[in-house]
Amino acid sequence: METQRPILKVCNLNVHYGDIHVLKQLNLSICANQIVSVVGANGSGKTTLLKAVAGILRPVQGAIIYHHKQIQTLSVHEVVRRGLVYVSEGMNVFPFMSVLENLEVGAYIAREKKKDRLSLVFEIFPLLADKLRQMAGTLSGGQKRMLTIARGLMSDPDLLLLDDPFLGLAPKDANRLCDALKQIRRYDITLFLAGQHVRRILRVATKAFLVEEGKIALAGTGEQMLGHPHLRETLFGIVAESGVEIP
Ligand code: ATP
Repeated sequence: METQRPILKVCNLNVHYGDIHVLKQLNLSICANQIVSVVGANGSGKTTLLKAVAGILRPVQGAIIYHHKQIQTLSVHEVVRRGLVYVSEGMNVFPFMSVLENLEVGAYIAREKKKDRLSLVFEIFPLLADKLRQMAGTLSGGQKRMLTIARGLMSDPDLLLLDDPFLGLAPKDANRLCDALKQIRRYDITLFLAGQHVRRILRVATKAFLVEEGKIALAGTGEQMLGHPHLRETLFGIVAESGVEIP
């Protein structure tokens, strides 16, 4: 049975970049042990939302409540220490460090747990265990993405934020990553994903949100969202009445 324990609540969140008001009184709530996805048109504010939650964007207006405590004024370091970890989009590894050294960097906040975290990472991404001494810069794109997520896991998160995790992945690597995300969830880690690969990101989601005009416009299970006429029209260009796909 799925637990409905809320792990994160975002209340009336406002984020500005100078004069640009990106998130406008945004509200959402995430329960533990879910895979939660945020989708939206380009520039709708998905990355902004994740970065605000992770403490990377400051100041923000509104409240971000994690494990029943407000965190919107805390530093990134403190947010990570409490178990909320953000993995940026792209394949940002330290190219001249080995795979193991990259993973060790991720464990800077949970050094005493390094051995346990490594075991967990190798269970989820066995391929990394075979490449520990290899320079990270020589990995393939899919392997680098695995390493960035694995490095996030080394910080001992219970809420892991992944920005555009499928970006630039070949279909085979994207399928592998979907399996890995489901496996991560089984370790009592809640996943909060955002991205442009709407079908993939909704298929893997147990709960999903559509961001529009700085607010949550729709919420539902991933499957419900995939079939929703408004989402299909705004993100896929599929108009329900005629079934015509607009290129
Ligand atoms: P995408 O799907 O293209 O990655 P997104 O939904 O993640 O987009 P954001 O990257 O959060 O959207 O950007 C939201 C809006 O804020 C966009 O209009 C973007 O141009 C603007 N924006 C983002 N970062 C900055 C910044 N550092 N300075 C000014 N404007 C920014």
